[in-house]
Amino acid sequence: PPRLNEDFLKVVGWADEIRDLGVEANADNGTDAAKARELGAEGIGLCRTEHMFFGDDRLPAMHEMILSENDEQRQVALDKILPMQQSDFEAIFTAMKGLPVTVRLLDPPLHEFMPDLVTQALKVQEMELKGADPTKLAEERRTLAQVKKLHEQNPMLGTRGCRLGMLYPQIPDMQARAIARAALAVLDREGETVDLQIMVPLVHLRQELQRQREIVVAAVDDELDKAGQKLDYLVGTMIELPRAALVADQIAQEADFFSFGTNDLTQTTLGISRDDAENGFLGWYEAQGVVKRDPFATIDVDGVGQLVRMGTEKGRAANPKLSVGVCGEHGGDPDSIAFFQSVGLDYVSCSPFRVPIARFAAAKAKLAQADASK
Ligand code: PEP
Ligand code: MG
Repeated sequence: PPRLNEDFLKVVGWADEIRDLGVEANADNGTDAAKARELGAEGIGLCRTEHMFFGDDRLPAMHEMILSENDEQRQVALDKILPMQQSDFEAIFTAMKGLPVTVRLLDPPLHEFMPDLVTQALKVQEMELKGADPTKLAEERRTLAQVKKLHEQNPMLGTRGCRLGMLYPQIPDMQARAIARAALAVLDREGETVDLQIMVPLVHLRQELQRQREIVVAAVDDELDKAGQKLDYLVGTMIELPRAALVADQIAQEADFFSFGTNDLTQTTLGISRDDAENGFLGWYEAQGVVKRDPFATIDVDGVGQLVRMGTEKGRAANPKLSVGVCGEHGGDPDSIAFFQSVGLDYVSCSPFRVPIARFAAAKAKLAQADASK
């Protein structure tokens, strides 16, 4: 566990008395969640579920789930994954001891979950050359045909986020059931509570959130009914595409909360790849003084910032109960936190190790704001 000395805890405690922005953490497993709590996180603002599928035991089940040819086969794969997901969520709920946990439904670029096209093509070729068993060869050829069909030229702008859940509603249904079963298991243990929020990624249409919400609510309520239990929970969405910010009033009618995904929002507003930015022209731009800062590290107030402000205002006007936060990398950057304070967000969420910095930055931003209004 991190070593926190008493003086540090005292000073950061003073900051907590001043700030009004909530500080949560991004964590995907029980260990990181426990670390985040220890560093003062008031909840998990983003639990990314895609990393949970990368293990060797899980990827084949995911392939089956996406590549299977009928509902029956798909269900077999889902039944394999569901208990694994349940234990993932149980660990996080347990670590957070009743603090809010925001679980985001699967948000992968599809290609990360499928056999690689070239590797699969080479495999088939090798089997052909070696005269492999015809049944096995036919199976691998079928997989190759499916991978070709689903192959995307630009996966980051392809079947990502809730689009996957729209095409394969079994996935959000499975995840919602796993989340509900995990919450029920934790509730069953004496004295433990769960503050649950379920988040839909990469929405740009109201209809997407409406449909995903229906699937989630039906699945969670079914699990609760079967167990004869009650549990309040929220369903909300990431705002991480420019259109989502522009039509935030429409989307807010389906949402209990918004969380700005400023990583994708920066990528899609600037049209700059978040993965290639640093090593490419952005580094050169910075070196030449064309831009002062890396917009993926510190929020681009003039551009992306306008969308955050607009999305917040439109969302709250349409739904006054809406809670609004940010969970992109900017949530742990002090200058960006000052901007989020000026917009009036409810909370920021950042990597666990940045939580103490965010607590100080939120207090500093609050004091600066109070000074400016004198
Ligand atoms: C984001 O886009 O800002 C975000 C938090 O989601 P991810 O980084 O997982 O795409
Ligand atoms: Mg994102």
